Order: sequence, then structure tokens, then C-alpha cells
Amino acid sequence: HAKHAGRNRFAFFTEKMQATSTRALTLSNALHDALEQNEFSLHYQPQVSLISGKVIGAEALIRWHSKKLGHVSPGEFIPLAEESGQILAIGEWVVRTAVRQIQQWIEAGITPVRIAVNLSSAQFQVGDLPKTTIKILNEYRIPVEYLELELTERIVAKDPEHTVIILESLQELGIRTSIDDFGTGYSSLSYLQRFSVYKLKIDQSFVRNMTTNTNDQVIIGTIILLAQQLGMTTIAEGVETKAQLDMLNNIGCDDIQGYYISRPIPAEAFKKAYLENKQRIIAVDD
Ligand code: C2E
Ligand code: MG
Ligand code: MG
Ligand code: MG
Repeated sequence: HAKHAGRNRFAFFTEKMQATSTRALTLSNALHDALEQNEFSLHYQPQVSLISGKVIGAEALIRWHSKKLGHVSPGEFIPLAEESGQILAIGEWVVRTAVRQIQQWIEAGITPVRIAVNLSSAQFQVGDLPKTTIKILNEYRIPVEYLELELTERIVAKDPEHTVIILESLQELGIRTSIDDFGTGYSSLSYLQRFSVYKLKIDQSFVRNMTTNTNDQVIIGTIILLAQQLGMTTIAEGVETKAQLDMLNNIGCDDIQGYYISRPIPAEAFKKAYLENKQRIIAVDD
């Protein structure tokens, strides 16, 4: 009986493992020519200042609509692109597309906002990130202040010494950087102090239950104090309710981003809603 159960359990696991790797293989194959096939796009999610109540930036988030497989989320395909090395080409496409978008807005007579793009570890490790970024900005004649680069604590932790050097040269070039999903990884405090980083992005996992969970409130409050001590600004991710917004405002968070304001949306919709009309979009107490 035990033997039988064991065999079934084994069969169950291999089937599941096989299903997972089949999906991964199918995705990897489709990913292979996704760039050529023009299957990627960027959506933009507004970032709002709690001081002015105005949109001060946007995060660009990649979207993949595969002709074969339909919509695939970045949470699923980015790790595969990282494994295969395709993330380098995709990452450059993301920066180029965001910068080209800024140029299109400027040419249409619209004042853009700063666009933040997400970086993967490989983009930080190989090649010359500061040089390639500046090259793209120059190509489209876009001032450095319109671009921001987001890196995660995981990237930082991989090689802190290297990170310090890259962050310094990005800062010298005037390119702003932020640490994404802050609080979820292992940021060595001694390194954090040496990082020329402009902004900490408080991870959405702390924001989610903050109105009822005092631990999360304490963590968020501590991150904000830390940022203030280090001369960095803070933005909270995943803000979905007015109650979260009010509490973040009370504890001194600078900016917010989340479904309460807007989901990530296509460039055209972003332009209509947030660039053509630059009014306050949330009420703030002065
Ligand atoms: P992230 O950079 O931390 O982006 C935030 C994610 O949270 C996005 O998911 C966004 O749509 C979602 N989000 C925003 N506001 C809310 C909210 O109020 N509630 C909830 N529940 N979610 C919210 P998305 O677009 O699926 O991206 C997932 C992750 O994939 C990103 O996390 C980022 O790590 C990665 N990613 C996305 N685009 C790129 C890219 O161009 N390059 C790289 N390397 N990674 C990317
Ligand atoms: Mg991000
Ligand atoms: Mg994040
Ligand atoms: Mg995240």
C-alpha cells in the first residue's frame, strides 16, 4: 500500500514538473522572436506626489502579447528571458521605447514626465549600462532628467561593490536611480549609505495590509525615516485605497503609485489622462 502511494506521488510530481517545463519551453520558443515580431509594448502607470497632488512621473511596464500564446505576464516571461540572456536585447528595447515615447510627446508639444524603467540583473552586470543609456538618450536628444532606472535589492546584493561604482557613474551623468521592491531583499545598511540612489520604492507587500497590520506600519515608517536620513525620497507601490493614501501621507511618504490612482495604461491613454491635463489629481492637505 505504501509503495503504491509512493509511486502515485512520484507520478504526480513528475507530471507537474513536466507541465511546468513544457510551458517554460513553449514560452521560451515564442519569446525567441517576440522582439522581431513586434509583440512587446509598454504600459505606463502614473506616480503622484503627496505634496502637490500632481503626477510627477510614470513607471513603464512591459507587456507581451504573443501571436501564438496571447497575453503573458512579465512575472512569467522576464525570468525566462533572464535565463536565456534575451533580457539584454529586451531591456535595451524597453529603454529605447520609453525614450522614443518621451521624444514623441515633446514633438507633439507636450511636456513629458520622468519615465522609470525596470532593469534586470544582467543589464547591470554586463556591458556598460551608463554608456548605453546615455547613447540612447543622445540619439533621441532627450535630457537625462526624463529617465529613471529601477533596480531591485536582489541586483544590488549580487555584487554591491560593482553596484556602488555603476550607481556613482549614473549619478555623475545625472541619471536618477531607485531601488524597487525595497524591504523584501537583503539590503546591507552599510552599502545603502554608499549608494548614490535617489529614491526607495516601498514594496507593495507592506502597503497591502498596512491599515490593519501595525508591523507593516512600523516597517514603512522605518523605511521612510531611513530614506530621510540618507537624503533619499520614498514612493509607496500598490496603493489601492484612500485609507492607505491618507496613512502614507501622515507618516511622511513623498509619492505614491497604485491602482487607487490608475492601473498601468497604454501611452496614448496616459497622455490624454495625465499629460494633456496637468491638474492636481488627488486632494492633499497643505
Ligand atoms: P514592479 O517593477 O515592482 O512593478 C509593479 C507591479 O505591480 C506591476 O506588475 C504593476 O502592474 C503592479 N501594480 C501596480 N499597482 C498595483 C496595485 O495597486 N495593486 C496591485 N496588486 N498591483 C499593482 P506587472 O506589470 O505585472 O510587472 C511585474 C514585475 O515584472 C515588475 O514588478 C517588474 O519586476 C517586472 N517587469 C515589468 N516590466 C519590466 C521590464 O520592462 N523589465 C524588467 N526587467 N522587468 C519588468
Ligand atoms: Mg518597478
Ligand atoms: Mg516594485
Ligand atoms: Mg514587484
